[in-house]
Amino acid sequence: METDVIDFSDARMRLGDHIVRGVAADGMVRAFAITAKDTVQTAHENHGTSPLVSAALGRLMMAGQMMGVMYKSDDELITLTVRGDGPIGGLTVTANNRGQVKGFANHPNVWLSLKADEHLDVGSGVGKGTLSVVVDRPGAMPYSSQVELVSGEIGEDLTYYFAVSDQIPTSVGVGVLVDTDTSIRQAGGFIVQLMPGHLDFVVDQLEENLSKVTSVTDLLEAGMSPTDMLHHVLRDMDYQELEVVPAEFHCGCDDVRAGRAVAALGESTLREMIENGETAEVYCHFCGKRHYLSPDELHELLG
Ligand SMILES: [Zn+2]
Repeated sequence: METDVIDFSDARMRLGDHIVRGVAADGMVRAFAITAKDTVQTAHENHGTSPLVSAALGRLMMAGQMMGVMYKSDDELITLTVRGDGPIGGLTVTANNRGQVKGFANHPNVWLSLKADEHLDVGSGVGKGTLSVVVDRPGAMPYSSQVELVSGEIGEDLTYYFAVSDQIPTSVGVGVLVDTDTSIRQAGGFIVQLMPGHLDFVVDQLEENLSKVTSVTDLLEAGMSPTDMLHHVLRDMDYQELEVVPAEFHCGCDDVRAGRAVAALGESTLREMIENGETAEVYCHFCGKRHYLSPDELHELLG
């Protein structure tokens, strides 16, 4: 069990979006927290998401970023897919263990009335359906598992996922606060897990602490950083921080990959496009970028 205590205060001050990882109660609890306002803002700008979809996609992206940091080996990718019968249709998010995430919604511009408590109605936007998690490890079979959605609110669905799939009692809180001009005002979250062998008094303390947390966005509005949030959620439990990871929206698509996608259309299609003087356009669903290949560049693909 990792128990080194490191002072990250300098690194944190230089960071905008970032993820922290730590332990508490002699390693019986492990915890992750994130602030990702710029990450969710980038998704909002790339995809033109409505406030409702910014919240739904942002919650899933931040969960993906924290889950990415749970896994230790580089090149490991985690993909979270939500499929629902609500108007958003679906959400897809892919993250690595370096805090980078990309994601999109099937229908980015969905608007619904606010709930009675004035919060965005993410549950109705997503509807009933499934959450699937796929972990791709280089040189190994991908690991995948799927659960039914509990509420479509994302945090509750992931809490259920961890209980059923990993058999780890987990509390997931993720929240996005959207400003009146549709820009992202706050985005953040935490994942707190009870590790095998935990003692009852740790469960009692954690439940008492969590019962006092109203919402993640309240904590963020109070000015809390991810470290502050974990000290709050794990107070009196000797929280120790182990790692700080910068976080960002990052796609990684480029013209070379776009060229490969076009080349997959086959030689005869390529020759036809070149003869007609057509420019090929490749749209990246993950980041909304369009890549263009001129007839000359298409000709190079033939070689
Ligand atoms: Zn892209």
